Amino acid sequence: MKQHNRLDPWADAQRRPCKLCGRPIVWVTAFNADSKPVRVPLDMTKPVYRLTDVGNDGTVTAERVEGGGVTHFATCAKVGDLKRKDK
Ligand SMILES: [Zn+2]
Repeated sequence: MKQHNRLDPWADAQRRPCKLCGRPIVWVTAFNADSKPVRVPLDMTKPVYRLTDVGNDGTVTAERVEGGGVTHFATCAKVGDLKRKDK
């Protein structure tokens, strides 16, 4: 196993430009709740947070997830064009 870069442990992950908008995305195999693998394009440039606690007064705390990515379906500026084309 290669030694990972401390600042960006996922620097070796292969980024490919989105065919629609050109943003660099990382295609991953993720597992749904039913353990079925699905291919998901991740945008690694957006911060991802995980909820860590909810206080009695409803105050919610969270921590940033290092190495987390957001599905590019949510961040692609052109994905709306694709949906319209599918109709
Ligand atoms: Zn895109």
